[in-house]
Amino acid sequence: MSRIVMKFGGTSMAGIERIRNVAERVKREAEAGNEVAVVVSAMAGETDRLVQFCREASSLYDPREYDVVVASGEQVTSGLLAIVLQSMGCKARSWLGWQLPIRTSDAHASARIGTIDTGTLLGAMAAGEIAVIPGFQGLTEEGRVTTLGRGGSDTSAVAVAAAVKADRCDIYTDVDGVYTTDPRIVPRARKLSRVTYEEMLELASVGAKVLQTRSVGLAMKERVRVRVLSSFEDARNDDGHRGTLIVGDDEIEEAGMERQLITGIAHDKNEAKVTLVAVPDRPGAVATIFGPLADASINVDMIVQNVASDGKSTDVTFTVPRAELARTLDVLEKAQSTIGHLSVRHDTKIAKISVVGVGMRSHAGVAAQMFKALADRGINIQAITTSEIKVSVLIDEDFTELAVRVLHTAYGLDSEGEAA
Ligand code: ADP
Ligand code: ASP
Ligand code: MG
Repeated sequence: MSRIVMKFGGTSMAGIERIRNVAERVKREAEAGNEVAVVVSAMAGETDRLVQFCREASSLYDPREYDVVVASGEQVTSGLLAIVLQSMGCKARSWLGWQLPIRTSDAHASARIGTIDTGTLLGAMAAGEIAVIPGFQGLTEEGRVTTLGRGGSDTSAVAVAAAVKADRCDIYTDVDGVYTTDPRIVPRARKLSRVTYEEMLELASVGAKVLQTRSVGLAMKERVRVRVLSSFEDARNDDGHRGTLIVGDDEIEEAGMERQLITGIAHDKNEAKVTLVAVPDRPGAVATIFGPLADASINVDMIVQNVASDGKSTDVTFTVPRAELARTLDVLEKAQSTIGHLSVRHDTKIAKISVVGVGMRSHAGVAAQMFKALADRGINIQAITTSEIKVSVLIDEDFTELAVRVLHTAYGLDSEGEAA
């Protein structure tokens, strides 16, 4: 007998027929003698619809009320799944975020999970009742409903798995695992049977939305065994397993797997580029820009600063989340007299393309290969950042798909057989 957490995403929960398919899978695990908790997303498109309602209600909506609205999508699907499970003869009940409760910080719309009370939950599961938990939602100390940021149900699932000390956390989605890149963009992408926490964390943080970044960070910290697999297909890998296992570095070595230089490629179209023209070139100048942005909790990603060719002023370019562009421009305008720049330019028609792989640590030339492959296709690079296991470049959004495909081929990641 194992204790398992199963998480089903929006596409898997979109409509009663699909919920029945989910319930069949859950029932199978329960009938095999496992203790089961299920974490569900809202139906595909529902959270977008609810967000849009808030925007229409007021452009300056109260984030606490936004959370009340957007958390409702998961309440619907958790109740529906409990009903369908019961109709199939299973013992099941829903546990909303506030009922468990799942305690979070009060950072509305991007709250962090603190603790989860598991006493009652474990009791119910031990008595053979399937616990259905809405993902994405929690409760502050003051008793207000919170949500965890888009894609947050993955994090709910991993947090529940860590709290109940589950043997496995299975993330069921609309693809059958983690691929070398988004298989919807590159049909020749290859499925990875195993990927390390570290690489998955980096891939997720640069745009591979198959798992929310925070969920991977939490799984790594708590050593939760996460598997990504399909809600719709049951095909097995050559090694007999289904989907992709997220594992520690040691397990890759134990499995004697050949290390690829590059594990995966991701793209992100959610950033905006901002350029401050003619910033005075003096000590402390950059601090006057990024201090106020940090105070406003705006995350800056890539930064490029040129040398001052005239010895007096230089341009500073950086990226922020697209959703934060308006606030960024507002902050910069208010700080104009302290920063002393001439003007501000911005561009949302950009994309960040990243290549990730632990093999980079011991191999020079990865970035050079990337720059050459893009140059050969006439793709201009506007900014660059690197970490120990990642190189990211900023390009014109129109070239996103082409860049991902070209790099996928350049690093030898294409699978054989299938046409591109
Ligand atoms: P869910 O609703 O189940 O949470 P998401 O839409 O959040 O599903 O995530 C699954 C999607 O992630 C896939 O449909 C795929 O297009 C996308 N994706 C992006 N990068 C990758 C990757 N490297 N491997 C697999 N899927 C990826
Ligand atoms: N329903 C939420 C979203 O669309 C959370 C999730 O699906 O993970 O972002
Ligand atoms: Mg998701």
